[in-house]
This record gives sequence, C-alpha cells and structure tokens, in this order.
Amino acid sequence: MDNRRTRVRFAPSPTGPLHIGGVRTALYNYLFAGKQGGDLILRIEDTDTQRFVPGAEAYIVETFRWLNIPFDEGPGLGGSYGPYRQSERKPVYRRYVQQLLETEKAYYAFDTPEELEAKRAAVANFQYDASTRMQMRNSLTMSGEETRRRLEEGTGYVVRFRVEEGELIRVNDLVRGEVTVHSSVLDDKVLYKSSDGLPTYHLANVVDDRLMEITHVIRGEEWLPSAPLHVLLYRALGWEASMPQFAHLPLLLKPDGNGKLSKRDGDRLGFPVFPLAWSDDKGSEPSPGFREQGFLYEALLNFLALTGWNPGDDREILSRDEMMQCFDLAHCSKNGARFDYEKGKWFNHQYLRAKDNKALAELFLPLLKARGLEAEAEYVEKVVGLVKERAGSINELWEHGAFFFAPPDGYDEKTVKKRWKETSPQQLSELARVLASCERFDALSTEQTVKEWMESRAYAPGVILNALRLALTGEGKGPHLFDMTALLGREETLRRIHRAIEQLP
Ligand code: GLU
Repeated sequence: MDNRRTRVRFAPSPTGPLHIGGVRTALYNYLFAGKQGGDLILRIEDTDTQRFVPGAEAYIVETFRWLNIPFDEGPGLGGSYGPYRQSERKPVYRRYVQQLLETEKAYYAFDTPEELEAKRAAVANFQYDASTRMQMRNSLTMSGEETRRRLEEGTGYVVRFRVEEGELIRVNDLVRGEVTVHSSVLDDKVLYKSSDGLPTYHLANVVDDRLMEITHVIRGEEWLPSAPLHVLLYRALGWEASMPQFAHLPLLLKPDGNGKLSKRDGDRLGFPVFPLAWSDDKGSEPSPGFREQGFLYEALLNFLALTGWNPGDDREILSRDEMMQCFDLAHCSKNGARFDYEKGKWFNHQYLRAKDNKALAELFLPLLKARGLEAEAEYVEKVVGLVKERAGSINELWEHGAFFFAPPDGYDEKTVKKRWKETSPQQLSELARVLASCERFDALSTEQTVKEWMESRAYAPGVILNALRLALTGEGKGPHLFDMTALLGREETLRRIHRAIEQLP
C-alpha cells in the first residue's frame, strides 16, 4: 500500500453548478497530488439520472480550465483507467453486483414504493436493516424459486447491501482522526436499481476508487457518514487491504451565524457561491460567479486554500507552488471553516495590485468591449497601472478607470458643492491656457509648470487642483492628478476643462 503511486480523484455529480466548497475539495486534491508527485483524476458521478442536469459537466470542465487546475485523467482527457463517466461503466458495476449477490453480501429486494411507504407510516423510524429485513419482500424471505421467477418475469427490483449487526466499524480519517460507528445504525443501502440498470452512488464510488487505484479519498465532510458503509463494502468485495485512506474536509460555514454555507447566504449577503455564473434552463435569474465578479483565479485559489487549511505558519499570500510544497492534510481544521467573502476580496485586491499591467489589461479589455469601447492595448495597460491600487476586482478597474475611456457623464453633486468654487471657472480657463502652452505634457513637466504658475499667481493649490480633478473625472477621487493629465493627453484634458466650465455653475 505504502509504495503505491499516489492517486486522488475529484468526483463531482453533474447535478448543477459546482459549489465553491466543491472547488476547494478539488483544489486540496490537486495540491495533495502535486505535493506527492501523484495523479489527479476527474470522475463524473452521473448515476443519479433523476438529478442529472445537462450542461453541468461542461460547467465543471470550464471551471477547472479557468482555474488552471489540470487533471491528469478524466472524460475527454484519456487515461488508462477509463471510462471516467460512471454512466459509461454499467457492465463494470454489474459484475460486482453479481459478486456481492453470489457471496450473499447483498440480496434482491422487490418491495414496491407503496409497500415501503406503508411500512414507514406504520413503524416509527423504520429502517431497512438486520432487524426488519426478514419482514420484507426480498430474496432472503422468499424461496429461491420465487426469486428466480420474479427475476425472469422482469419484476423490478433493487439490490441491497446486507449489513451485519453488532460490528464496530473504524474509519481512520487523515483530518478527523479515528471515527467509529456501530454497524447497527446503518441500513441495508440500495446498491443497484434494475429500473435504470445503474448502481447507486455508494457502490459506484467504491468500485471506481478501487479500480482506478485511488490511494486517498479527499472529500467534503458531508460524505463522512458514508465512509463506514464504504469500509464495509471494501471488505465485502475482498478489497480491504487496498482501501484508500480517507480525509474529510471541514464544512464551509456561513460568514455570519451557524450552519453550512448555502446559495441563499450568497444571495442574502450579496456574494457568489459558484465559481462561474450559472443559469438553469428554467429561466430564473442567473446566479453570479466569482469569475464574473472580477476575481482573479489565482486569488480565488489562495483564498479557498486558506479557508480550512493553513501552511503551518502565518503566511497568507502563497503562490500555487508554495501551497503545494507545504500542503499537509494534518493542517486542515477539524471544525467547519467560516467563509469570509470580505477576506476573499482582500486576497483579490492583493493579487490585482501585484499583477503585471499587461496581463491585467488583457483581462480588462473584454469589459471595455462589452461596453462598446475600444482602446489601444498600451493605453489600457497604463490605465490599469494607475487604478489597480484602488480596485478590489477586475470589474472595479472599470469603476475606477471609466473616465479614461469617456468624459464623465455627469459631475458628482456633493463634490461640486464642495470643490467647485466661484473662482473655479476663471481659474480653470487660466489653467487651460497654461496647459495649452506648456512645452511637454508628461506628468512631471506639467506638474512643475502648473505649480510655478499657481505660485506666481498666489493661488491656493488645493482649490485649483480639486476643481481640475472634478473636471477630468466628474468626482473627487482618482489617481495622481498629473498622471491622469499625461495619460489623457493635452487635447482631451483641455476639452474636459472647457466642458466643466460650460456645464458647472
Ligand atoms: N459524487 C460525490 C459528490 O458529488 C462524490 C463524493 C466523493 O468524493 O466520494 O460530491
């Protein structure tokens, strides 16, 4: 077991958009595999036809393309353990269902939904298990002949796992330590349904982990209750010796209050819980995604990595390689991890300001295009360089830099009241003349010329410079004034000054 090559998998069910907790699970698998020099596998667990959502798999694939998390094997990627979509593995599961039936670890059950319903209504806390199975309609209570007859007639059935009573099941979890469960609390889980010829999650999950030679099952805490059953299944299939190690990751909790982070929390508090925007086919409002909110994927990964894990010291900004180098499941928290969106924005801001202007401009250009604006790449680079210090997201680059692409479409009322003085029109016309005649228009020379002029006229610099800023941006804030004039250029600067003089009182 110990000298096996590390192989981990991310095994989403295509039932809708990937939740941000799922992204974190995939990330931890990726970091773990990277640290061990092992393989990362994508497996699509699409055995629940009722919950299957078209487009969900494509969404998952697009998410990891954006996040730049490469899988070594998966649907469309190849690999020698495929197919990687469970719906394409029916014959594989059939074989193991047969094996479990033959070794009497499982049995056929013919109870109709109505019969089960009636039983549940009659018996409080009814559970299909060792204490009740002999009262039910299954191959244990029927003669072999009767069972055969039903199967031949094509009566619908399920195959149930036969969980024996009175056993203590131990799960050694790499995050949570030893977890023990009494087998009596488990029910005889359905492993297979004749109605669609598909296994249920439990059987498919265990069989595939074994056949794909998975060494570590790293998944969300919500799957911890399934782990004892999976241990029993490994045993029943004779695979105990090659059972993977389990690691159940801490739940993502609401930013405020108790309980699991849900989509509703995102809606309520105004942040996304999905990596990419998602619209269902029922025509409801699209759900926002981190990408569309202007998150850099590197920032999102760093933020998610630190939600439920720490590098063992107090570093917060870590590159992908750094995270990989020190990734250790022992440093995952046992308790839930609060999802702090504000902290996420902080990470994004840190990454944004550190990102080089050219790369940032490329991410920003589509936002301009979407608004029907065009600009030279070089110009856009300079703009993002000036405003990135202030922006918390790519989208905010627009909020802070819009005036570089079009004159302000109005002047902020409060700023006008405070900053546009009686003397402003006259002073700005004079300033326009000074700017029109200065020899060079770079930030330094313009600043120098304007300062000298203000001194010579004994003008209060604050009054003039604030009014100039208002004329250029329509607001009271923004980057360094002469960086702006230099970038806007002489012509545009003068045009905006004259426009303000005309339009403001
Ligand atoms: N298909 C399960 C899910 O959607 C996988 C759980 C596991 O990783 O075992 O999360």
